[in-house]
Amino acid sequence: MSASLEQTLAKGLAERQQQQLYRQRRTVASAQGAEIVVDGQRCLNFCSNDYLGLANHPKLIEAARLAADSYGVGSGASHLVCGHSTEHHALEEELAELTGRSRALLFSTGYMANLGAITALVGKGDFVFEDKLNHASLIDGGLLSGARFQRFLHNDVDALDKRLSRCADEGRKLVVVDGVFSMDGDIAPLPELAATCAKHDAWLMVDDAHGLGVLGGSGAGCADQYHLDQQQLPILMATLGKGLGSSGAFIAGSDELIETLIQFSRSYIYTTAMPPMVAAATRASIKLLSTESWRRGYLADLIAFFRRGAEQLGLDIMPSSTAIQPLLIGDAGKAMAYSRALQQRGFWVGAIRPPTVAAGSARLRITLTAAHSEEQVEQLLLALAEVAAADGRGELDHA
Ligand code: PMP
Repeated sequence: MSASLEQTLAKGLAERQQQQLYRQRRTVASAQGAEIVVDGQRCLNFCSNDYLGLANHPKLIEAARLAADSYGVGSGASHLVCGHSTEHHALEEELAELTGRSRALLFSTGYMANLGAITALVGKGDFVFEDKLNHASLIDGGLLSGARFQRFLHNDVDALDKRLSRCADEGRKLVVVDGVFSMDGDIAPLPELAATCAKHDAWLMVDDAHGLGVLGGSGAGCADQYHLDQQQLPILMATLGKGLGSSGAFIAGSDELIETLIQFSRSYIYTTAMPPMVAAATRASIKLLSTESWRRGYLADLIAFFRRGAEQLGLDIMPSSTAIQPLLIGDAGKAMAYSRALQQRGFWVGAIRPPTVAAGSARLRITLTAAHSEEQVEQLLLALAEVAAADGRGELDHA
């Protein structure tokens, strides 16, 4: 008799567990912030992407509440049916203005934006080149597109240049990178990438999920930081659920790009629009980028404070200038043991393991936000040093 569905699945789950790669959810019973309640325990939260501390900001809450009063909760349908509200429309215009692009188009999630944009722009007979450390949604978009898919060494512009030189003249060429790499925290060499793309008539797409709100003089992200205009960086994607503290994503670029996505992007066309109240809350956070610009400066100071402290304590923090400050551990089981030991001390820091990162490069993904105080960061540093010392003495539980 063949194995039942449950028997087959149980075998896969047991394997996952044996490899120390089993993922478990925990339940949060509070709003986001420096302190949250996780599975009934109050902890200091160092794993959120709410970099500016806006997810629980009174202005966002007020905007969402007012919009709920006017529009209700659900958007009712997709953007192309009857779900495209004036809140969505105004947000798109404000995002285009913020990023210095002609237009912007909202998607319900970043995952869908990446999948939808790449598959609408390239297909069979075309080429897509992606950095090896790109986010899973970009990789999945490239694979799903049916284009010839190549990955190049992380941040290696020469390797990309060689690949572009070797590929045939016919067919579209799309180069896709993260602006800030989500698990390493480093920033892509965007000016060099833009120049290489221009040299080979390739289109550059950047996923700025972790840069929007945080990088650049006005918080418009990596394009703002490097002063890359629409011609140099024609396909700009960013998410709204991180620096802007709400949810959703957008693609910004030329009128032709946006119209193409409206016509051909399946994850835009065939899905319900985000709730109007989320669009309204995001509009409030865009205002805060200028009225509370201190958040960006404070976060930058906190990052420097953390790095100085980590260096003094001899912690193996990866080279990153952004709010993502990973501590490399290596072994997946040990990364979990670090995370558990920190949890016992009242800190929530997620362990990132394969397949999210390469085998042997499991890490703690520490994220700092403008909601943290220096004192809280100092407490984290001391706890990290304590756990590393316990590990050095062979005391860390590996179970
Ligand atoms: N791109 C990057 C670089 C990300 O880190 C994420 C979220 N982890 C996404 C895209 C997906 O965004 P969303 O959570 O809105 O689906």
